[in-house]
Amino acid sequence: MILDRPLDSWLHSHPLIAELIGLQPLSWFNPGIAPAAQALGDVPLSLGDVDDASARLERFASFIQSAFPETRPTAGIIESPLIPLRALHAVLCAEHQVPAQGTLWLKADNLLPISGSIKARGGIYEVLKHAEDLALASGLILPGEPYSQLDSDEARAFFGQYSIAVGSTGNLGLSIGIISARLGFKATVHMSADARQWKKDRLRRCGVTVIEYASDYSVAVEQGREQAAADPMCHFVDDENSLNLFLGYAVAARRLQWQLHAAGIVVDEQHPLFVYLPCGVGGGPGGVAFGLKQVFGDAVHCLFAEPTHSPCMLLGVYTGLHDGVSVYDFGIDNVTAADGLAVGRPSGFVGRAMQRLIDGYYTVSDADLYRGLAQLEACEGLRLEPSALAGLPGYLRVLQEHQGYRQRLGLDEARMARATHLMWGTGGSMVPDEEMDAYLAQGRTLLGNRPT
Ligand SMILES: *Cc1c(COP(=O)(O)O)cnc(C)c1O
Repeated sequence: MILDRPLDSWLHSHPLIAELIGLQPLSWFNPGIAPAAQALGDVPLSLGDVDDASARLERFASFIQSAFPETRPTAGIIESPLIPLRALHAVLCAEHQVPAQGTLWLKADNLLPISGSIKARGGIYEVLKHAEDLALASGLILPGEPYSQLDSDEARAFFGQYSIAVGSTGNLGLSIGIISARLGFKATVHMSADARQWKKDRLRRCGVTVIEYASDYSVAVEQGREQAAADPMCHFVDDENSLNLFLGYAVAARRLQWQLHAAGIVVDEQHPLFVYLPCGVGGGPGGVAFGLKQVFGDAVHCLFAEPTHSPCMLLGVYTGLHDGVSVYDFGIDNVTAADGLAVGRPSGFVGRAMQRLIDGYYTVSDADLYRGLAQLEACEGLRLEPSALAGLPGYLRVLQEHQGYRQRLGLDEARMARATHLMWGTGGSMVPDEEMDAYLAQGRTLLGNRPT
């Protein structure tokens, strides 16, 4: 029995569960997709909230620039480049025998300053928001004063009365820990068993308390939640439910709009934009997708990508059970090389709020993540961590689908020929060289061994 029903009954009502259990890479195009104008009403946030978050990050730019000199080139704004993947696009289209139409781009969040992953958006934003709330309430800063003064011993002594806790598979902990420690907060990161050793070492060097668990992400989050609940001076960063985290990710949308414009890329009904987002618990891809739907409406098509061993969001949305189901319930092990995506139970908030806004969900094998990692390096000289490659096969899935998805949305040949495909490269630049070399070696071996 699985959640009070025999497996047969599940397979009858939800046939894709057989492939999920069999760990087969699969794509599911959302039959419940609705026009953005209607479906954005499902999310309890507006474009005004995103712009408010964006303005807050601008207020903090002088602090960021002072505290993290690597952000000087962008004047304290934490943003990543948009990079064309011409060579890789040509190689993959030839390999998979699909027409080389449209263009393929990388949103290189692997290059985000401070923590080298997409978590430098939501994670850092949430801590800054909390710091601002405390500083304004106590009079440590007055509205309109430059926030660079928060990079001071006085401010650190003030924030040192407070603590921040978070549960993480690694990258969120890295972002929260680094920014919290720099502001002066006492920070505790509860790390799941998937977390890489170098991330824990790095945090400890910053003075962050790292607590390690032999269990998975959901347990680490629960422990963080409990620690915080027992301490009124402690703020818990709730990766599963936080609206602030979500808004921090959503800020990416306006900035991408500007970058696309600067690159001469048109996005409208005749020129669709497809965005492929690696998904763990869902906050990162959900927040980015929310911002993109606000900005581009029905011209943008967002798809979430998960490892075959951790398809929590696909399972939650497909069954309609959201956070009421975990991959373990169906005997799926949640063991993957994509440590940033090793999540067994999705965010119920994201799954529900975004379920009419996401075009589709697909799964990728670890072997394909490694192969993509090696191909991206060979063709473009770019180095991403395994999780960040989940977006790469997305455009092939869209081109190869036979579920009537493109037809349903009016994505005909002419529109597809003008499409822009964007894989969100969610992390990698902080991975130590030896570790990256091992990933690459693994990918090259798999490429060499591939059946032809
Ligand atoms: C966290 C993470 C994601 C996904 O973000 P969620 O909010 O967990 O869905 C994707 N890629 C990398 C590298 C990450 O660290």
